[in-house]
Amino acid sequence: MYSFPIDYVEPVFRPPSEAKSLILPVTNGCSWNKCTFCEMYTQPQKKFRARKPDDVLRDIEKAAQSLGSVRRVFLADGDAMVLPTRRLLEILGQLREAFPDLQRVSSYCLPRNLAKKTVEELAQLKEAGLQILYVGMESGDDEILRRVNKGESWESTRSALLKIREAGLTSSVMVLNGLGGESLSRQHAINTATLCNETQPDYLSTLVVSFPQGEERFREGFGHDFVQLSQQGLFEEIRLFLEHLELDRTIFRSDHASNYLVLKGTLGRDKQKMLDQVNLAISNPGAAPLRAEWMRGL
Ligand code: SF4
Repeated sequence: MYSFPIDYVEPVFRPPSEAKSLILPVTNGCSWNKCTFCEMYTQPQKKFRARKPDDVLRDIEKAAQSLGSVRRVFLADGDAMVLPTRRLLEILGQLREAFPDLQRVSSYCLPRNLAKKTVEELAQLKEAGLQILYVGMESGDDEILRRVNKGESWESTRSALLKIREAGLTSSVMVLNGLGGESLSRQHAINTATLCNETQPDYLSTLVVSFPQGEERFREGFGHDFVQLSQQGLFEEIRLFLEHLELDRTIFRSDHASNYLVLKGTLGRDKQKMLDQVNLAISNPGAAPLRAEWMRGL
């Protein structure tokens, strides 16, 4: 009987665009694991640890034997980039050796992971095969980042994204629509836009904040004055965000299952087109192609 060559510690997460990639865990969980909106690695088996080099190598060798050609690899879990550069270079070398057709390697990346890594080190990783880093910006507003215990700031995120850019790596940034609730929606939209403008990410996507396991943990940190945005409030926040974006060539997507309104395009070129779509959703929701509540995969 066929069995997949890697024994995962569930649950395992990856960005939607890595659906065709081999998911290779090089760490377990997330080294920070304190963001109050994130439930990805809260189960006991997902407690953070770096995996043993021998275990990672064994998985690579088993995958090479049973899968043959592999073109894309996603390094899991939540922040593989926490590993020292030397260790990452070793993994990338082993991947290249095992998979001669390898085209790209990617990973989630916390801005804090790059605080001690230099642009030269990132360029070495690129040279060794790393290509895309997925960065959860969530918000560019320092008050919100503090209230959700992100452990980052406008400046720490800016610095990390500029290093990624300077090293020639591709950045894919995620922003959380609704993270500031009603009271901080305006500053969330504007300050997130200014951070995106400063850093000009290659890809930018928005997800809607959601609490499948309840809001209690989030409210404790944020404050009990948190009022979740209505569908209209979410659209108005996106409109303000888009209005303040000044991007040269960023691929924008709000097609994650959590979004009511799917937007796709290249910014700045398609800015007005997307604003027209959002305006329609605000002024005449019946005429806009909205995702029904039951279809939103939360
Ligand atoms: S850094 Fe990312 S993975 Fe870690 S707790 Fe925060 S949102 Fe979750």
